[in-house]
Amino acid sequence: MPEEQYVVELDREICMGSGVCVSYAAGTFAMGSDAAAEVTTPIVTDVSDVEVAASGCPTGAITVTRRTVGSGKQ
Ligand code: SF4
Repeated sequence: MPEEQYVVELDREICMGSGVCVSYAAGTFAMGSDAAAEVTTPIVTDVSDVEVAASGCPTGAITVTRRTVGSGKQ
Protein backbone atom coordinates (compact mmCIF):
# COMPACT_ATOMS: atom_id res chain seq x y z
CA MET A 1 0.00 0.00 0.00
CA PRO A 2 1.62 3.28 -1.06
CA GLU A 3 2.13 5.80 1.71
CA GLU A 4 2.33 9.55 1.41
CA GLN A 5 5.36 10.99 3.15
CA TYR A 6 6.64 14.51 3.35
CA VAL A 7 10.28 15.50 3.41
CA VAL A 8 10.88 18.56 5.57
CA GLU A 9 13.93 20.71 4.86
CA LEU A 10 15.11 23.94 6.39
CA ASP A 11 17.70 26.34 4.99
CA ARG A 12 19.63 27.38 8.08
CA GLU A 13 21.48 30.02 6.06
CA ILE A 14 18.35 32.13 5.74
CA CYS A 15 16.69 31.21 9.05
CA MET A 16 16.48 34.30 11.25
CA GLY A 17 15.68 32.35 14.42
CA SER A 18 12.15 33.63 14.94
CA GLY A 19 11.02 30.35 16.47
CA VAL A 20 7.71 30.38 14.60
CA CYS A 21 8.27 26.87 13.27
CA VAL A 22 8.97 25.48 16.75
CA SER A 23 5.80 27.11 18.05
CA TYR A 24 3.63 25.50 15.38
CA ALA A 25 5.37 22.14 14.99
CA ALA A 26 7.54 21.39 18.01
CA GLY A 27 7.70 17.74 17.04
CA THR A 28 9.42 18.58 13.78
CA PHE A 29 11.57 21.63 14.54
CA ALA A 30 13.80 22.73 17.39
CA MET A 31 16.07 25.69 17.98
CA GLY A 32 19.74 24.90 17.58
CA SER A 33 22.49 26.15 19.85
CA ASP A 34 23.35 28.84 17.28
CA ALA A 35 19.79 30.30 17.43
CA ALA A 36 18.87 28.93 14.02
CA ALA A 37 16.16 26.28 13.82
CA GLU A 38 16.81 22.73 12.74
CA VAL A 39 14.65 19.85 11.57
CA THR A 40 14.38 17.09 14.16
CA THR A 41 11.93 14.92 12.21
CA PRO A 42 12.77 15.16 8.49
CA ILE A 43 10.15 12.66 7.32
CA VAL A 44 6.53 13.13 8.42
CA THR A 45 3.22 11.64 7.37
CA ASP A 46 0.98 14.25 8.98
CA VAL A 47 2.01 17.51 7.41
CA SER A 48 -0.67 19.86 8.73
CA ASP A 49 1.40 21.51 11.48
CA VAL A 50 4.48 21.62 9.28
CA GLU A 51 2.61 23.41 6.50
CA VAL A 52 1.38 26.00 8.96
CA ALA A 53 4.94 26.45 10.20
CA ALA A 54 6.27 26.75 6.65
CA SER A 55 3.71 29.35 5.66
CA GLY A 56 4.39 31.27 8.88
CA CYS A 57 8.16 31.30 8.48
CA PRO A 58 9.14 34.93 7.88
CA THR A 59 12.07 34.06 5.62
CA GLY A 60 10.63 31.14 3.67
CA ALA A 61 13.34 28.85 4.95
CA ILE A 62 11.16 25.75 5.19
CA THR A 63 10.28 23.52 2.26
CA VAL A 64 7.99 20.50 2.30
CA THR A 65 8.14 17.94 -0.50
CA ARG A 66 5.62 15.14 -0.91
CA ARG A 67 6.72 11.70 -1.94
CA THR A 68 4.97 8.36 -2.24
CA VAL A 69 6.70 5.25 -0.94
CA GLY A 70 5.81 1.59 -1.21
CA SER A 71 4.35 1.75 -4.70
CA GLY A 72 7.39 0.31 -6.44
CA LYS A 73 7.69 3.53 -8.45
CA GLN A 74 9.94 6.50 -7.81
S1 SF4 B 1 10.10 30.00 11.33
FE1 SF4 B 1 11.68 30.19 9.74
S2 SF4 B 1 12.99 31.89 10.40
FE2 SF4 B 1 11.77 31.26 12.19
S3 SF4 B 1 13.06 29.80 13.29
FE3 SF4 B 1 11.76 28.60 11.91
S4 SF4 B 1 12.97 28.35 9.98
FE4 SF4 B 1 13.90 30.00 11.20
